[in-house]
Amino acid sequence: TRVGPIVHTVVVIGGGQAGLSAAYHLKRRGVDFVVLDAAPAPGGAWLNRWESLRIATVNGIFDLPGFPKPPLDPAEASRVAVPRYFADFEKASDLPILRPVRVTAVRPGPEETLIVESDRGQWSTRAIINATGTWTNPVRPHYPGQETFAGIQLHTQEYVSAGALAGLRVAVVGGGISAVQQLEEISQVAKTFWYTRREPVFKDLGEFDGSGIIAKVVADVEAGNPTGSVVSYTDLAWTPYALAAKERGALERRPMFTAIEPHGVREADGTFTAVDAILWATGFKADLRHLDPLHLRNERGGIQMIGTQVAADPRIHLIGFGPSQSTVGANRAGREAVNTLLRKVLTHV
Ligand code: FAD
Repeated sequence: TRVGPIVHTVVVIGGGQAGLSAAYHLKRRGVDFVVLDAAPAPGGAWLNRWESLRIATVNGIFDLPGFPKPPLDPAEASRVAVPRYFADFEKASDLPILRPVRVTAVRPGPEETLIVESDRGQWSTRAIINATGTWTNPVRPHYPGQETFAGIQLHTQEYVSAGALAGLRVAVVGGGISAVQQLEEISQVAKTFWYTRREPVFKDLGEFDGSGIIAKVVADVEAGNPTGSVVSYTDLAWTPYALAAKERGALERRPMFTAIEPHGVREADGTFTAVDAILWATGFKADLRHLDPLHLRNERGGIQMIGTQVAADPRIHLIGFGPSQSTVGANRAGREAVNTLLRKVLTHV
């Protein structure tokens, strides 16, 4: 039994790309800190990616700071290759990372401190950098009759590979990159039906405007608007897998169905389509439930941000959040959070 919490100047919560980037910069700047990561091993959410998501089909993995990626085999599963790279980075960087430690709550402590509670004890700190990602908070929309469905329902989070759906009639719901990738795979072995709320917009790879998408998310978080899943912001690109799906006829999109019945879905036009499985490729949202005791959300459910800092509390940074939900964004956000904390909060470290 421990007497009182362990004290560190900064606690980083989460050890994926964002948390590792923050840790690298904290160490470089000589700040006393610890990283608490719920995962059993290095790799962040990459540990959980579906088996058929290869290095060739990911959007691109940005380098961790000061540690270029080795050449990766395009055919290798990303859930093997990326965690191996992260593990090598951690070994080379000698960072204080504790695993597995799941943070359950962060509360205000005495004298402007924050108390970080976990399943493995408590920490007291002057600031937190939250980097818990989105994988553990899948967006699961609800439609009337859903509980009566007799077939299989799964979310991208539970998808492993198309094999389990072979020979079935499968409704794929969602307008993001994961939906298109999974449609492409499943349509090779099953009859697919694609449902999205909005007409998906595909751009040629050359015209794809990542910075325009990021600017929209920045505008939302700086206005304190609740940010949806990244899926709701992403345009789609005519990647080789998207073109393959199109050729197979799998990208003929239907408007969202209105209800679910035991053996299928009720289409927007009132007709019935029999399906055996529904794949919810409806994305993920930031998992910040452990921050609830800090009451960061406004009445709209959003958290107003200035860069990586929570606007109302300079001790709290959220990275891999909003516009930094990409490997490149996570990397930059880690550095920005450390620089801003040193400038505004840890001025005499
Ligand atoms: P994560 O990698 O999710 O790491 C979060 C870590 O925090 C995990 O280790 C988790 O265990 C831990 N954690 C969670 N809750 C707690 C808690 N309460 N206490 C302690 N630890 C906790 N981006 C790209 O740039 N290129 C791509 O190709 C790409 N492909 C993607 C494919 C999919 C299917 C998805 C969903 C996303 C993809 N992204 C991609 C986005 C990308 O994954 C993320 O932006 C980035 O990798 C996330 O890094 P992160 O550190 O923010 O989060």
